[in-house]
Amino acid sequence: MRTSNSSRGWFVMALAAVMLSACQTQAPDGTSPAASPPVADLMIVNGRVFTADEQGTMAQAVAVKGNTILRVGSDAELAALRGPETRVVDAQGATVAPGFNDAHVHFLSGGLSLGDVDLAGLTTLRQVQAAISTFAAGKPADAWVKGRGWLYSPFPGGSPTKAQLDEIVPDRPAVMTCYDGHSIWVNSKVLAMAGITKDTPNPPNGVIVKDPKTGEPTGHLKEAAADLIDPVLPKLTDDDRRAALKAAVAHALQYGITSVQNAGGSLEEMDLYDQARKAGDLQVRAYLATSATSATTEADVDRMDEARKRFGEDPTLRTGIVKMYADGVIESRTAAMLAPYTNSTSAGEPNLSPEDLTRIVTMFDQRGWQVQIHAIGDRAIRMSLDAFEHAAKVNPAPARGRRHRLEHIEAIDAADIPRFAALGVIASQQPMHVALGDMNSAKPSGPWPDNVGPARASRAWAWQQIKAAGGRLAFGSDWPVAPLEAGLGLWLASSRLSQPGGPEQAMPVADALKGYTIWPAYASFDDQRKGTIAPGMLADLVVLASDIISKPPARAGDVVVQTTIFDGKVVYERPR
Ligand SMILES: [Zn+2]
Repeated sequence: MRTSNSSRGWFVMALAAVMLSACQTQAPDGTSPAASPPVADLMIVNGRVFTADEQGTMAQAVAVKGNTILRVGSDAELAALRGPETRVVDAQGATVAPGFNDAHVHFLSGGLSLGDVDLAGLTTLRQVQAAISTFAAGKPADAWVKGRGWLYSPFPGGSPTKAQLDEIVPDRPAVMTCYDGHSIWVNSKVLAMAGITKDTPNPPNGVIVKDPKTGEPTGHLKEAAADLIDPVLPKLTDDDRRAALKAAVAHALQYGITSVQNAGGSLEEMDLYDQARKAGDLQVRAYLATSATSATTEADVDRMDEARKRFGEDPTLRTGIVKMYADGVIESRTAAMLAPYTNSTSAGEPNLSPEDLTRIVTMFDQRGWQVQIHAIGDRAIRMSLDAFEHAAKVNPAPARGRRHRLEHIEAIDAADIPRFAALGVIASQQPMHVALGDMNSAKPSGPWPDNVGPARASRAWAWQQIKAAGGRLAFGSDWPVAPLEAGLGLWLASSRLSQPGGPEQAMPVADALKGYTIWPAYASFDDQRKGTIAPGMLADLVVLASDIISKPPARAGDVVVQTTIFDGKVVYERPR
């Protein structure tokens, strides 16, 4: 019995459900004195049920009552729970798993991006321009042309220019966000509207890329420089946001995703989710982080505590986690490295000093908040681990334990690999980022491996090494940075491409499945109620179209979702 970390209310409910399933002499509502077993509302039969439990239990069938898993076993063992009203899902021999949990998304921006031009995976300038121009032609009435997902590789020097965008969108403002979300590419119209000229200084933590000869801005705005166009961007309405959230939920369910962990946002955003929940539109469980910086004060945390009181224990909408950024990204050399980039004298600068990071992390730790830190370069990773180590030294351990997290961890120093286990810090990684690195490495080479060089690239996304050293992992997409499709991550984690980092990081598909189920549930303090298929757990389940455990995915698109079940109900079905 798992007890250590459950909240009391949940524990009582789970215990009741387990007792009901074990003691089959009473109906689930407890009213009838009959000797008949409870009747399931929903059953999955004829499956290869991957329970994600510690023992590696496989089963054939799952029975669900209300929003809870009632029993797990063979078709024969569960036959008695089937009544005339029971909805039966025939898995046809395919894998059944706990509903997928994406440990790192930007859910609302993802939903908003569904209406923009998608440049993901395009590797030549011609392809990029064609996609934008077709999209713009199809939306003549839109005041702005917006898109996202461009890779660095189509552009000479990895830096796009306004001229390349002016050529195809000369008459309207156009903004394209880089796939990593750390750069934007704008046309001349946007620069003029935002008043960005050769005389505009770089903002803190941002770079306005300028032509070395003329000094004119090129149209590539890195990191915080992207915020310079915020005042001229069309204002989003609440209706826009509500529609985007709804679209994001539908997008998630088709990929079997029943839980998302939002990596940063505002307290106001929680109200939006709350409205969606009350309207019955939030058919994923959301764990929402609030963004923090070195300027965050104790008074800010007081406000955050209020939100945590409101959304602390509800299994569908929770907070309790804070997101920080220690650095940028390797592609634009804004990630903080211990030694200079191979093609620059700079090693990148962290977003805040080690002292500030330690101070803020220690404050949140002391106030019982979970902290997740974006840390990509080896220096940012070390700084963040140091901050967690300090907090653990000076603060008493909270009753529920510490589950602080680092996000991304793209280039780690070998000395820091064992520290994840030692400090109990979770490595939250995004397998699809490796593929994006690969696309950016399109021959002859690309910015990721070029910038760090072969030695550091050999420790790229070193999830197997972190795991082998006893560290815990959680996988996600970082959508809209990468596609939300969890199946792509399952494929990549289990059959990792050759570069960068090497095929030695490939893991058994069963581990990859844990990376999208029980491990992220642990990473959000939810492992007592979801992430495994067992009596008493929430009935969030995914039925795939094939048995991926016997036949692991060999290429993109091999993991197909057949049915998604959220809170005991079928919420997505793919036509057979
Ligand atoms: Zn992110």
